[in-house]
Amino acid sequence: MTSSNGQKPQQPTLRVIPLGGLHEIGKNTCVFEYGDDLMLVDAGLAFPSDGMHGVNVVLPDTSYLRENQKRIRGMIVTHGHEDHIGGIPHHLKNFNIPVIYGPRLALSLLTGKMEEAGVMDRTVLQTIAPRDVVKVGQHFSVEFIRNTHSMADSFSLAITTPVGTVIFTGDFKFDHTPVDGETFDMARLAHHGEQGVLCLFSDSTNAEVPGFTPSERAVFPNLDRHIAQAEGRVIITTFASSIHRVAMILELALKNGRKVGLLGRSMLNVIAKSRELGYMRAPDELFVPIKQIRDLPDRETLLLMTGSQGEPLAALSRISRGEHPQVQVKPSDTIIFSASPIPGNTISVVNTVDRLMMLGAKVIYGKGEGIHVSGHGCQEDQKLMLALTRPRFFVPVHGEHRMLQCHSKTAQSMGVPADNILIIDNGDVVELTADSIRKGDPVKAGIELLDASRNGIVDARVLKERQQLAEDGVITLLAVISTDGVMAAPPRVNLRGVVTTADPRKLSLWAEREIGWVLENRWNQLCRHSGGKAPDVDWVGVQREVEVGLQRRLRRELQVEPLIICLVQPAPAGTPAYKGRADVEPDTRPAPRGRGGRDGGRDGGRGRDDRAPRFDRQADRAPAAAAIGAAPIHQRELAAIGAPAAVAAVAKPAPEAVAEPEPAGRTRRRRSAAAG
Ligand SMILES: [Zn+2]
Ligand SMILES: [Zn+2]
Repeated sequence: MTSSNGQKPQQPTLRVIPLGGLHEIGKNTCVFEYGDDLMLVDAGLAFPSDGMHGVNVVLPDTSYLRENQKRIRGMIVTHGHEDHIGGIPHHLKNFNIPVIYGPRLALSLLTGKMEEAGVMDRTVLQTIAPRDVVKVGQHFSVEFIRNTHSMADSFSLAITTPVGTVIFTGDFKFDHTPVDGETFDMARLAHHGEQGVLCLFSDSTNAEVPGFTPSERAVFPNLDRHIAQAEGRVIITTFASSIHRVAMILELALKNGRKVGLLGRSMLNVIAKSRELGYMRAPDELFVPIKQIRDLPDRETLLLMTGSQGEPLAALSRISRGEHPQVQVKPSDTIIFSASPIPGNTISVVNTVDRLMMLGAKVIYGKGEGIHVSGHGCQEDQKLMLALTRPRFFVPVHGEHRMLQCHSKTAQSMGVPADNILIIDNGDVVELTADSIRKGDPVKAGIELLDASRNGIVDARVLKERQQLAEDGVITLLAVISTDGVMAAPPRVNLRGVVTTADPRKLSLWAEREIGWVLENRWNQLCRHSGGKAPDVDWVGVQREVEVGLQRRLRRELQVEPLIICLVQPAPAGTPAYKGRADVEPDTRPAPRGRGGRDGGRDGGRGRDDRAPRFDRQADRAPAAAAIGAAPIHQRELAAIGAPAAVAAVAKPAPEAVAEPEPAGRTRRRRSAAAG
């Protein structure tokens, strides 16, 4: 058995390690460790942010779990939201989880995902009921405490360990009139509070919002009014996983004499599962297949669909773009957004609203309409949780940094000493003993990006290439080089999606110069004479060198950073050298622009400047450098640079030229994309 936690044996320590869900909303994944036991609580996914081209799913880095998989005793699921269960099917392909305990609805949704991923045989799913206590490994016993949230069948956890009891709230709000009548089991929270709670890990999503979160029931009369007043069809979008909301909408459709058509895979899936398990009671006759929906009068139609976040492929977004095969917007339609945008989705949501309005529909959206309430508790809910559990130590979780800070203030206002509160990041280790809390050495945390197949991992290099393609296009470059290091034909350059002021001739000339530079300065390293007649040339290395050189030049001269693909076609030794255009027509081209001598900032000092004289610093170049073709290369370059004034400008050794900042917008965009 491996034990990488390095804890002092004399002091038994509970280690709690969130691998996701901190400083973000999404991919909640938390590890509990004691001795040789490791238990997981939830394993969610997050959705990609702008710039993560072709990425469908963001998961936490699970190196730590893979390294310690022998110690994993089981997993606890609190509820069925994607940010809590979405990562499980993927993880099951990578490491062993012997058993997963969770509520019926969450496990039913999880089963669908696991079947799709073909991992049904990798674990055992155990359904729990309220107040059930399960034992995980030697050291954990976990009690499921019914709570209230936007999803039905949701739980908080009381985790009893050798150092004390930890309350892990999961996602919650205090809803005293829940749609399904299943109230928060506050008595159990109070019971543990009475017995003594070592530490509380609590949902921070709405820590910045004063007051109580209204009951889910509060949206009922407002939705009812809008549906009753609608002259034509009613189109409603919400999260499919907001089971209570969906149940209410179905109830309202029935009440208002409208039949329901469903659009969107997750909407169909969640409603089917929820009806099957009895979380929604709607008669079969209420539903009409979408193909038959146009046979109904508009006043008897309600369409319920995905797309509340403006997701480009979701039903409502496609309808707004006129791209849906079955549904087109009519001016008499009333379209209701019964959800609020997740931070980051705001722009796509307002764009969808705009497009729908431009098609003439009446669109009801936004906070003032009373058609959405959060599933997460606000400050007063959070205070009530603290009051009931009376924890000695406190760790705010499930939130962005400012929310964690705010939640910490709330806890302090309730008498928890600041020293007893930890604000942590993904990968940080909370070490708890019976009378102390501290931050241990962090474990590896980060993100893994999955593509549409949910199998392929989009690594940092692929993502960077996609960003380059999307933002600056691609340049392909074909070079013909003989095995004795001679450029045998002019390079052929092709541009796709590249916006540039430079004409293709100039680009081709630059390419020629980069190839020349590589042949002159790098050929000896890239070419091994193994004794035989033909030397052994590292063509991939040649390509790479040319790509890097041209990349730097384009960044410097044009402030663009397209993806560059260089292909070399080898020619036999002895092929005559192509006589470069640089020799032929030296003076017709304009001089390089003023920034020519400066170096793009991104590569810092790692570029070719460190290895050899720079191409355009003619003065520095040793005359003895290898000649290529008919003319020594430095002569050709000199001609190519053009006017003497420009030579002076670029040849000046320029210490100030080291870090030319990129346009701020681009730097910021890329960074945020990479950081997620
Ligand atoms: Zn949730
Ligand atoms: Zn959540």
